[in-house]
Amino acid sequence: MTDISFSYTLSDGSAPPCRDATGAFVHTGGAPLLDRWSKGARLMEQGSSTDGARELDRCTSELDRWGMAHGAWRMGHGEDCQQCPTQCPMPNAQCPIPNTPIQNPCIQNPCIQMSRTVTYSPAHTLVPTYECFNRCTYCNFRTDPGKSPWMELAHAEKLLQALQGTGTIEILILSGEVHPQSPRRTAWFQRIYDLCELALSLGFLPHTNAGPLSFEEMARLKEVNVSMGLMLEQLTPKLLETVHRHAPSKVPQHRLQQLEWAGQLQIPFTTGLLLGIGETPDDWRDTLEAIASIHCRWGHIQEVILQPHSPGNQQTCKGSAFSAEKLPEVVALARQILPPAITLQIPPNLVQQPHLLLACLEAGGRDLGGIGLRDQVNPDYPHPHYRALAEILQPASWHLVRRLPVYPQYDTWLPVRLRTALTHWRNRIAGAPY
Ligand code: SF4
Repeated sequence: MTDISFSYTLSDGSAPPCRDATGAFVHTGGAPLLDRWSKGARLMEQGSSTDGARELDRCTSELDRWGMAHGAWRMGHGEDCQQCPTQCPMPNAQCPIPNTPIQNPCIQNPCIQMSRTVTYSPAHTLVPTYECFNRCTYCNFRTDPGKSPWMELAHAEKLLQALQGTGTIEILILSGEVHPQSPRRTAWFQRIYDLCELALSLGFLPHTNAGPLSFEEMARLKEVNVSMGLMLEQLTPKLLETVHRHAPSKVPQHRLQQLEWAGQLQIPFTTGLLLGIGETPDDWRDTLEAIASIHCRWGHIQEVILQPHSPGNQQTCKGSAFSAEKLPEVVALARQILPPAITLQIPPNLVQQPHLLLACLEAGGRDLGGIGLRDQVNPDYPHPHYRALAEILQPASWHLVRRLPVYPQYDTWLPVRLRTALTHWRNRIAGAPY
């Protein structure tokens, strides 16, 4: 059998310092990782070289991810880890961002996995246009190209002025897509840019999700967004024959490319999985591992959303809902695969039974996403009020706090103008109740 005594060295050439009494490597996902490594070795021995190599590759990339997390810890504290194996790779470490004016300075420390703090972003969504050239069968958002008037800036200004002083911080610019080759693409992009600019000028923090963009478009939007997002959904190409048959933007490799570009451009980024659209549990694992791998190259994924498919009244093909009963299992898998610094987001309007929402938190979820008047993607599932959420969380000793649409470790990636706006908001929410 292949040697699994962990002569493995990390990508920087150093040896992993954490071993158990037998000298075997141990980390947060220790036992499952060892099982999988053994399984991969067995498959190789039995002649299933493709499957075996796949398992071993997964283990190797997981070790690399651990190495990065540990490297970060060593960089911050300059000493060897004395505490492994434990649940948290930084158990007794000092917070790497002390004295920051946020309510919980450990919010993005991997120690978050030990905390009982849950965040949400007070948000409002602006939709530049509902028109979209894709036709995903589960969509409850789109209209045909040319059938949805674009949001006028004067109208947006009135909406935003009415939101001033209400506690709203994030403006999510969520748009249907105009085809990249369309003569209307430039005007569509400019409208999105202008809406971000407007939101900033009125004191809000924009976060744009407008489908796949060119590298240049992404670079320009970085000027006026504190973070951006794009759901990876699922990596498997088989969905291109079913729910994404008429959705050219959903080619998984194009979406992975977006995540890569966001990393290259140092854009704090949110992505996620759409669950229950025809994928298998192995597909979840592949998608999560792809996200982890890209994050390990660039360190820019701040959140991963785990969104259960929830049928609405407008979709062309009803399909069945992803059972919320299964969601805690997916959360646990994601927590095992993704680096600790990536926060897992659970949309509370799609997990309506309180005990299941709490189970998702126990499994590793720590964020409830943007909470506002309306979920534009799932209009049949209104957001609960944050006070109602706090009432569910508090009896189970969870503490609900507001957050900004960019996590503190990314502040220095942003242009100076955006950093000024951030400082204002960080000071405002520091120590304040939700
Ligand atoms: S889900 Fe998004 S990409 Fe697909 S049709 Fe709807 S708006 Fe377009």
